[in-house]
Amino acid sequence: MIIVLKPHPTDQDVRTVEEDVRKLGYTPHTIRGVVRTVIAAVGDETSHQSLEVLESLPCVDRVIPIQRRYKLVSRQAQQDETTITVGGVTIGGGEFHVIAGPCAVEDYEQTIQTARSVAAAGATLFRGGAFKPRTSPYDFQGLGEQGLRILNQVKAETGLSVVSEVVREIDLGVMVGAVDIVQIGARNAMNYSLLEAVARCGKPVFLKRGMAATVEEWFLAAEYIVKNGNPAVILCERGIRTFETATRNTLDLSAVALAKQETNLPVFVDPSHASGRRDLVAPLSKAAIAAGADGLMVEVHVEPDLAHSDSAQQLSLEQFHELIVEIEPFVKTCGKRPGWAARTAGKE
Ligand code: PEP
Ligand code: MN
Repeated sequence: MIIVLKPHPTDQDVRTVEEDVRKLGYTPHTIRGVVRTVIAAVGDETSHQSLEVLESLPCVDRVIPIQRRYKLVSRQAQQDETTITVGGVTIGGGEFHVIAGPCAVEDYEQTIQTARSVAAAGATLFRGGAFKPRTSPYDFQGLGEQGLRILNQVKAETGLSVVSEVVREIDLGVMVGAVDIVQIGARNAMNYSLLEAVARCGKPVFLKRGMAATVEEWFLAAEYIVKNGNPAVILCERGIRTFETATRNTLDLSAVALAKQETNLPVFVDPSHASGRRDLVAPLSKAAIAAGADGLMVEVHVEPDLAHSDSAQQLSLEQFHELIVEIEPFVKTCGKRPGWAARTAGKE
């Protein structure tokens, strides 16, 4: 940390700050200028009290971190992109993958029909919520463990790896037996004990950005998981709450470009929850690809109008097929390999 003193500090001011820095367990290194004096405090911030308390001293102007607060997920710590391999699919490292499926698992037929169709179109991973965190406690909350059993069956029949959201720590045990990637939803993106628990669960984590989280808070949530022993984290921008009401959320593509530059993690975009409107999914998907995304998560339903949740944003099976056809040239132009190309080539 760098402690910047207010202009023209007295010798006593400098001594006071230096002593406080020592008391907090750090070593001060003072650099005196004609007007400004700064004190670099060197030490381990994880095991000592934060130096930010010094901001309350009258002679201190600001306390500024030297290093980024997220370290392990940063490009400074690891220049090469993290790649995550799940069921033969490599996420990151130049491949572009689409995770598709319904908002919620409603029954076996709906789930298997969707899975077969999205796989034929090009989806390489399947999504479906078994535990649904809903804004209203009176809305459909998901099938729970029965939903996980359906996902397991669908995985066995299609070979698709499955992504599903964990809402409570006590469900993690049953979830790890059924899913390949554990999703942390926007509503739990700052539930630090849940983040620590998924870090220990042994599965890759698909981390949505909280709807009111700053980019730094999103990266720090990822850092929590990595620091607790799980480097397999996929970031997902899913739109944030802003003053705008024309769309469900506001897709923050700056955050996607920044996440690609600043972190070594794969970055996905969820255009379905970002917009809340199926007619915006294709244009937002193309924009996400242009911003550098490594993949998409898209909601698809056999009969969107009858969906138990998020009906307005789910694509029909035909619309999903069209989406894949439409985005392919964008993926290639942006220098990524479409994840579905290898599968199609293998089939021929
Ligand atoms: C979801 O993907 O099912 C979901 C609930 O998304 P979010 O957490 O982004 O709202
Ligand atoms: Mn949904």
